[in-house]
Amino acid sequence: MSAEVEGTLRGPEAYALARRALQEMEDCGVWPTPLNFELWLHYVGDPEGPLGREIQRIMRDGESFTEQLSEALATNYLPRARLTDEIRDAGAQLSRELKSVAAAMSTAQRSQRDYGKTLADAGEGLESGAIDADGLKRLVDNLTSATEKVQTVNDTLEKRLQASTREVVKLREHLEQVRRDAMTDALTNLANRKALDEHLTRACLEADENGQPVTLAVIDIDHFKRFNDTWGHQTGDQVLRYVASVMGRLGLPPRLAARYGGEEFAIVFPGETSPIVEAAMNTIREEIASRILKRRSTNEELGAVTISVGIAQRVKGEGMASLMERADEALYASKRSGRNKVTNAGQLDQAAA
Ligand code: C2E
Repeated sequence: MSAEVEGTLRGPEAYALARRALQEMEDCGVWPTPLNFELWLHYVGDPEGPLGREIQRIMRDGESFTEQLSEALATNYLPRARLTDEIRDAGAQLSRELKSVAAAMSTAQRSQRDYGKTLADAGEGLESGAIDADGLKRLVDNLTSATEKVQTVNDTLEKRLQASTREVVKLREHLEQVRRDAMTDALTNLANRKALDEHLTRACLEADENGQPVTLAVIDIDHFKRFNDTWGHQTGDQVLRYVASVMGRLGLPPRLAARYGGEEFAIVFPGETSPIVEAAMNTIREEIASRILKRRSTNEELGAVTISVGIAQRVKGEGMASLMERADEALYASKRSGRNKVTNAGQLDQAAA
């Protein structure tokens, strides 16, 4: 969330900001769903940020804010915005910790200096020889209390350092969780597009090093919009979850399954050739098509859900964008030839030749 949003959420202007967000939504005819509200809070809090600029562009172009568009905005911009907030919060927490450790260290240094002076004074007193039994007792008492004082300060410093170390470990774990969240699609729990891009980039780099193949499959649920319109978004979301769970089972490491857009998924297969991937995708395509899904609330049968798939095996030195493009072309070939199909880009290339 932007600095303004984050700060005011805890401050007195929170209501004003929320009202501004709601007013802007009403002015633009945007439905006040929780997701849209979150998007608009970011937008009014930081209109010149990447999300703010994109919302302004959409409004200028007169596009309407459909659920799909809001979801795409959230996928593309909110994880980054949330991550930025969390990193800033962690940074602030870390500097508070460092400040408090620095204060404890400077107290310890002062106390060490005082202790040194007490020792030096005692040494001078003893050297002068002008010290009687009472004086010697006072000197020993002084030294004892100075030693206790310096020990107390050192103990405090040690405890402070231990507490700070625990706090920094907690912060690191928290940031790791935030990073994982920012890479995960909230609806399906699969990796999101950002995670897919990173994984695919890494797989391509590794393939350049070890000469192994990489294959990409892109998957689209057939007629999903029609399904959503007939049964409603809640049931549509359940279908997305169902398809995602099948993808997730297939996409175990070192593979990676991701939700790539609204009803689009992708799976990266490092080290695997396209004929192997084609067989695996045909198996899950049949599994999905043969499953009878039911509407949870009424137990009505929802009919068959099918998927279309495009597969492309990376050619040596090929970039991620070109590989995705070829897999997309193969997906559209599956759609054009009747859906519920798997098409291998290699076959398209052969047919074209
Ligand atoms: P979920 O409802 O949280 O279910 C998680 C898993 O529990 C399912 O994974 C399945 O293994 C099991 N499960 C849940 N309910 C039943 C049931 O009534 N019968 C049987 N045999 N197993 C059940 P699965 O199948 O991979 O589904 C993942 C998610 O996909 C489900 O999460 C749900 O959100 C959605 N889904 C799957 N099938 C249907 C369905 O027929 N109707 C609806 N509305 N959603 C479904």
